[in-house]
Amino acid sequence: MTHSIPDIFSNNRAWAAQMERQRPGFFTELTRQQKPKYMWIGCSDSRVPANEIMGLDPGEVFVHRNVANVVVHSDLNALSTVQFAVDVIKVEHITVVGHYGCSGVAAALAGQRVGLADNWLRHIQDVRDRHWHLIDAIPEGHRHDALVELNAIEQVVNVCQSTVMVDAWARGQKVSVHGWVYGIHDGLLQNLHITVSGVEALEAAYKAAIEGVSRAARN
Ligand SMILES: [Zn+2]
Repeated sequence: MTHSIPDIFSNNRAWAAQMERQRPGFFTELTRQQKPKYMWIGCSDSRVPANEIMGLDPGEVFVHRNVANVVVHSDLNALSTVQFAVDVIKVEHITVVGHYGCSGVAAALAGQRVGLADNWLRHIQDVRDRHWHLIDAIPEGHRHDALVELNAIEQVVNVCQSTVMVDAWARGQKVSVHGWVYGIHDGLLQNLHITVSGVEALEAAYKAAIEGVSRAARN
């Protein structure tokens, strides 16, 4: 699977022609507006492509990706993307999607130094440390998966506590935040059963989701 740059341009032309053949006017339609219902916040990992996984076309999902799908309150990039999605595009669902086999989570779990990104992964080490009693109680082979799930849940909380979401819910906007994980080994999405549609629902949903990780890890 080695593709040269000319291959990529040739693939692109073939793809655009095929789309236009199958759905005449597809690209013209997209120039008028984007009105996706979904926002995806996921890992930059090349094996986790948002559109393909969701079975959605261009125009159907608004995407933000970074190393290990972290949402930090001082990250203007992530917050601006969420703000645009919520205030302007008015997406109805924001999905925070972790994935098993995440190198960022693995490095954070092991405390492995990778360079500048250590500072970014420190946020995941904070998640690890916050839930250390839970992680410590499960077999070593399952800890990575548990931290992937805990990280996705914590990032759902960060999205929900952002000024963007607090303000949107205060004005009655209908938008929900979900926590999911994706398996690069089987191509399947799993629901972490944390779906939040208002600030008041956050705490109970968070507790239940953490309990769910704890229960699954013990079994
Ligand atoms: Zn990853």
